[in-house]
Amino acid sequence: MRILLVEDEKGISSAVCQVLKKENFTVDPVFTGADGLDYALAGIYDAIILDVMLPGMDGFEVLKRLRGEGIKTPVCMLTARSGLEDRVRGLEIGADYYLPKPFQMAELIACLRAITRRKEDTPVMELSFGDVSLRQQDAKLVSKTTGQSVKLGAKEYQILEMFLRNPRQILPKETIFDRVWGYESDADYSNVEVYLSFVRKKLAFVGSKLKIRASRGIGYSLEEEA
Ligand code: CA
Repeated sequence: MRILLVEDEKGISSAVCQVLKKENFTVDPVFTGADGLDYALAGIYDAIILDVMLPGMDGFEVLKRLRGEGIKTPVCMLTARSGLEDRVRGLEIGADYYLPKPFQMAELIACLRAITRRKEDTPVMELSFGDVSLRQQDAKLVSKTTGQSVKLGAKEYQILEMFLRNPRQILPKETIFDRVWGYESDADYSNVEVYLSFVRKKLAFVGSKLKIRASRGIGYSLEEEA
């Protein structure tokens, strides 16, 4: 689980990071609304913890813009202002949970578990292109012609999902890396090639005619074999 933490108070930020890491979450902390929006727009997070009172763009504005861009990442809003009006406003513009400060870490963890679970319960999604489809509920790649299926690992799934959402488009290696491994990762770009080879093997395994083509120095695209 990768969490984006948008909180300008350094003390709270580092305390939250510490606790979340202990609970095996990966956390990217940012300290302004503008950075929060920028990171959140990448769509790589499982949940966002968003403070309301931030320098520059406040949390409400960040959330409004995110939802306006179609980013549905679950959001837990934090604020010292526990008034009903703020809470209603936050929920109206698409917050999933509202946690008034001061909060207990256990409450925050419970909130994250609740909003990410809710996301997993969302209706079954299936992406299709060419002779395959990718099922979200069990992360299986299914061939529509052979009926053969295979389960994908988390990273394989994320990579293939990107290609199926953007068929025939060249995706730069950096974009794939940022979406799947995140900004703060210790991993390097060579991981992209390793995982692309796994995805290619699975496409071949189900008998698909789809190919992931490399355009040297530019990126990769999912193509139907002529
Ligand atoms: Ca604040």
